Amino acid sequence: MPEIILMAPLIPFLISFLKNGWLNLKNSHKTILTAQSIIILDKMPKKIKVGIFSFTCDEGCSMTFLEILNKKFFEWKECLEFKHFRLLQSKSEIKGLDIAFVEGAVSTFEEVEKIKLIRENAKKLVLMGSCAINGCPSNLRNFFDEERAREIKPIVEKFGHREKVSAVSELVRADDSIPGCPMQEEKFIEVMEKYLKEFGVK
Ligand code: SF4
Repeated sequence: MPEIILMAPLIPFLISFLKNGWLNLKNSHKTILTAQSIIILDKMPKKIKVGIFSFTCDEGCSMTFLEILNKKFFEWKECLEFKHFRLLQSKSEIKGLDIAFVEGAVSTFEEVEKIKLIRENAKKLVLMGSCAINGCPSNLRNFFDEERAREIKPIVEKFGHREKVSAVSELVRADDSIPGCPMQEEKFIEVMEKYLKEFGVK
């Protein structure tokens, strides 16, 4: 019985050789190798493609993410592939993201286009911190009195800023949000763990 099991993978070779000779035997070998490769590839651990994006802010939530990585790096390193994270690497990709984590508020016209592009290219979009959720505190100039608003107007125009600063949530749909300034670490870990399971990498 064990011999039959050991011989089983050779049966297609023998049949092919008996029927069609050496050339087709080689082709059948290739087919079997391809099938084996597919099985091996399918068993390879997957990683989710993640981007960390900063809009107008002090990047305090990204720093918090780095601090979280101090604790979780070895647990998450097999699960995450960073496509964009300015504080970690110069490599930058927006296309084909599984999750985009976004911090900061949207103050320029360029940022409006960028957040729309990120939303189009990410299966999930998560807001990190109060700037992204409700604009504060990066939108403070929205609340300036008339005199102060007049004072800063030349600077606002010179640097291509919009009249009002918006929260990310006002411009695109978000799948999750992590409150706080900076964002709450425990909540971030909870959201990340949820997606690692949802994407089947943990
Ligand atoms: S929410 Fe706070 S810590 Fe996070 S980016 Fe805004 S100002 Fe910085």
